Amino acid sequence: MTVYRVPFNHSSLRGSELKYINQAITTGQIAGDQTFSKKCQALLESALGVHRALVTTSCTHALEMAALLLDLQPNDEVIVPSFTFVSTANAFVLRGAKPLFCDIRPDTMNLDETKLVNLITPRTRAIVPVHYAGVACEMDAINRIAAAHGITVIEDNAHGLFGKYKGRWLGTLGAMATQSFHETKNITCGEGGALLINDPLYAARAEIIREKGTNRTSFFRGQVDKYSWVDIGSSYVMSDVLAAFLYAQLEARDTIQERRRNIWCRYHDELKEWASAYGVRQPMVPDHCDQAWHMYYLILPTLPARTAFIEHLKARGILAVFHYLPLHLSSYASRWGGLPGDCPVTEDVSNRLVRLPFFNSMTEDQQNEVISAAKEYVVDGGKNPAQSS
Ligand SMILES: *Cc1c(COP(=O)(O)O)cnc(C)c1O
Repeated sequence: MTVYRVPFNHSSLRGSELKYINQAITTGQIAGDQTFSKKCQALLESALGVHRALVTTSCTHALEMAALLLDLQPNDEVIVPSFTFVSTANAFVLRGAKPLFCDIRPDTMNLDETKLVNLITPRTRAIVPVHYAGVACEMDAINRIAAAHGITVIEDNAHGLFGKYKGRWLGTLGAMATQSFHETKNITCGEGGALLINDPLYAARAEIIREKGTNRTSFFRGQVDKYSWVDIGSSYVMSDVLAAFLYAQLEARDTIQERRRNIWCRYHDELKEWASAYGVRQPMVPDHCDQAWHMYYLILPTLPARTAFIEHLKARGILAVFHYLPLHLSSYASRWGGLPGDCPVTEDVSNRLVRLPFFNSMTEDQQNEVISAAKEYVVDGGKNPAQSS
């Protein structure tokens, strides 16, 4: 295994994680739905103004809960971007639904709302926008189209916690939204997630589905005198040991986001001249979006240029990585007949996008190494910066 001087990601303590874990264990609260889970949920509800937040074992599981809540039937259809993590689609496929893959916008890498109408059929039940890199999708247009067709919007907000769209928090713009606290996300507990419920219609049943199909949550609240099997469900409850870690990170959200803002802006400013000299594209953030500072990516001119760039950094002890492969061209999705050319922007960007190291404990020296290594790279076939000025 290669050991990198600058890894792509590295987990770190941001506050009271160990103290809270110790507290959870010594008070005998290590199963789910105890003090720290409740604190995390209350914090998410009040910070974002959502009707209900439920912490879960992962974002994948929060998506599965959303799919269960929609009561999807075989042959129902769900529209997802092709450029996303597999769980965005898989959660619905597990319920027997068919995913329809939408292409992305060439500027923000987000689901292209202008391509939605062509994909909608009488069987379309949900649209699942992903706020890529924590930059909002065009939610007004998406919600308008969804409402006109009676379709539910579920935000996969794994990248977007504490980002905003036109002044409104990401995760509050669909009927439901899902969060990830996987170690690669801004705020983490290793493995974890949350389901945010904005439409109160789903709240009571979400608690049941999360608790193995029982009304155990109402029982603990004293609303029923015994709990029993009332619906389908599974085990989506987060352990309070992890919730203790998560609560410390959530408490530190302002310093975490500020730190990440600094890292992002520094990459953006320092690489500007190099990028424009070689035709390397930097991220675009529309004025009406306050991004969540989730990642810093670059789009190289060609696939060979990206491969060589990743190798160039690797030789200097720096790990940069590419991102999603087009879902519509995956081996599993071939059953739905996806073809090259169906999502041209996704197919193109997937070959050329690279993510730079970006983590909460990244030092200035580490970032300097990445910046100077990147600037040493002469993009094949690109203009020489010395000649361009
Ligand atoms: C990370 C991620 C997920 C999955 O999150 P888990 O918590 O690991 O299940 C889903 N969707 C997107 C867009 C992600 O980035």
